[in-house]
Amino acid sequence: MPHSVIEPTLSPLQASALQTSPASATFDVMRLRQDFPVLAREVHGKPLIYLDNAATSQTPQQVIDVFSDYYSRYNANIHRGLHTLADEATAAFEGTRQRVKGFLNAEDARQIIFTRGTTEAINLVVNSWGRTNLAPGDEVLISMLEHHSNIVPWQLLAAEIGFTIKVIPVEASGALDMAAYRELLSERTKLVAVNHVSNALGTVNPVQEMAALAHQQGALILVDGAQAAPHQVVDVQAIDADFYAFSGHKVYGPTGVGVLYGKQALLKPCHPGRAAVR
Ligand SMILES: *Cc1c(COP(=O)(O)O)cnc(C)c1O
Repeated sequence: MPHSVIEPTLSPLQASALQTSPASATFDVMRLRQDFPVLAREVHGKPLIYLDNAATSQTPQQVIDVFSDYYSRYNANIHRGLHTLADEATAAFEGTRQRVKGFLNAEDARQIIFTRGTTEAINLVVNSWGRTNLAPGDEVLISMLEHHSNIVPWQLLAAEIGFTIKVIPVEASGALDMAAYRELLSERTKLVAVNHVSNALGTVNPVQEMAALAHQQGALILVDGAQAAPHQVVDVQAIDADFYAFSGHKVYGPTGVGVLYGKQALLKPCHPGRAAVR
């Protein structure tokens, strides 16, 4: 049975949550550390303390085991082969898509597109949806809090096509200036591209409210979830996000894999030939 092969054990955080009753809720750091083999090593003669998880989280043994199992037992080309290994690899691959669908509460697994990371997911939207739908005179709103991944691709396409990028300012508190956001939104706005949680300040942006305001103007919203996916339950339907992106290497997963979620009506007309990634 392919699925018994690929079924990973609980993530360390899930296991921790299950074994800790709310009444005795303690955060057992030592037990959690044991899930991460890298934390057993020494750096400069001292036990490793790793505080860069927001940039790349370390990988728990459970995830390493899934990869080891895959390459040891059923590595094969997905969707192509007519043999047992190819069937098992395909089941694992599509099983992962189902899992990600559940993780984001997407309507349909076909809305989950695997990319190499958040950067590539955003570039995919820019070069497929953006290239087809943006024209001179149009406006794309980003915020002052964006990661370069959600700035540079828009700038490159704007330089080519001639649409305008406008920037939502940030208040002294670190929150987005929502009054300014409302003022910037107009019938010229075609898309709002903002992060869910800021990698610079940790600000949690009111993306649900921002989506509703964008939609009132007929604009779409792309949410960069690279920092939200590791820390909170993400519900793309509740947010009413048109596109949502995150990276594997920040959610205890492998490096070199990411996810783009898109509404089905938007994905269907996207031209694969124009989806070239920069
Ligand atoms: C890390 C990060 C990205 C880029 O992610 P990659 O995995 O490098 O593609 C984009 N946006 C935010 C908010 C990030 O934290």
